[in-house]
Amino acid sequence: MVTLVNTLDPNHKSQTASAMQEKERPRHPEKAHRPDNPVQRKPKWIRVKAPTSPVYKETHELVRKNNLVTVCEEAGCPNIGECWSKKHASFMILGDTCTRACAFCNVRTGMPGPVDQNEPESIGKAVASMGLEHVVITSVDRDDLDDGGATHFANVIAAIRKASPKTTIEVLTPDFLRKEGAVEIVVAAKPDVFNHNMETVPSNYLKVRPGARYFHSIRLLQRVKEIDPEMFTKSGIMVGLGEERNEVLQLMDDLRVADVDFLTVGQYLQPTKKHHPVMNFPTPDEFKAYEKIAYAKGFLKVSANPLTRSSHHAGEDFAELKAARKAKQGN
Ligand code: SF4
Repeated sequence: MVTLVNTLDPNHKSQTASAMQEKERPRHPEKAHRPDNPVQRKPKWIRVKAPTSPVYKETHELVRKNNLVTVCEEAGCPNIGECWSKKHASFMILGDTCTRACAFCNVRTGMPGPVDQNEPESIGKAVASMGLEHVVITSVDRDDLDDGGATHFANVIAAIRKASPKTTIEVLTPDFLRKEGAVEIVVAAKPDVFNHNMETVPSNYLKVRPGARYFHSIRLLQRVKEIDPEMFTKSGIMVGLGEERNEVLQLMDDLRVADVDFLTVGQYLQPTKKHHPVMNFPTPDEFKAYEKIAYAKGFLKVSANPLTRSSHHAGEDFAELKAARKAKQGN
């Protein structure tokens, strides 16, 4: 893209200065003053190959052409090469700036701009032109909006249904803390899967997820099932943030009390030296043990390995989730 600048415009200087300020503004102003936490070398089971496939490039072009924001890029996801090579991307709606300041997250923080009212249609078109069978829609936290962005989620779901009726839709929502009625709006739009990530165990909340409340998140997931018992619910955590094994097992029990169907457990990776440090790298066998325990606790589907992300293999996992429910119901 070429930007033309009118150098005779008296406002030009100040416009350029503010554009430069915006560019120089730290991505995470609230973390800029924090001491550095050196980023540790990853163990061999975490390394991934650089993306090269032509389909990856095609997905990249589609995302750019439609002006879409993806969590794959914003979060610096290690699976981007694999997912984009299969034309699987997770779209991030409601802008690229988050009103929270979680210690693990690489999404830009600050005061977001106005909601793009054309976004539902753009997402619908992109989903149709990519021919997606299953799509994951997530968003930044929008504590500045009266409904936390719930109506926009509902509009995006409706636009996808219209443009691509066969695509199944998974939403990964914020916690809508103190936004009365928000979760009801999203459930009424009938996504196929309602995902809300717990992210970590309760003892970590104050330092890792300070703007959120553990029991509010559990309650949100429980509320989804109360409103629509048929809707699949899903939640995920990262390990490597200093949690104790027993705390992870307790969290699994709390999610089962809320009747959550699907649990994801992945390794936390530190995006920059200003983010929360990685406290440990559980081995693939330790992940397998979590998976086994979670199945024993009654989850219909569990994905637990170092590279698990809540949207990784979401399409295949959704098919398995449906099959697991059918098998449990005996039909
Ligand atoms: S795991 Fe999710 S966020 Fe990561 S690249 Fe795949 S779709 Fe994107």
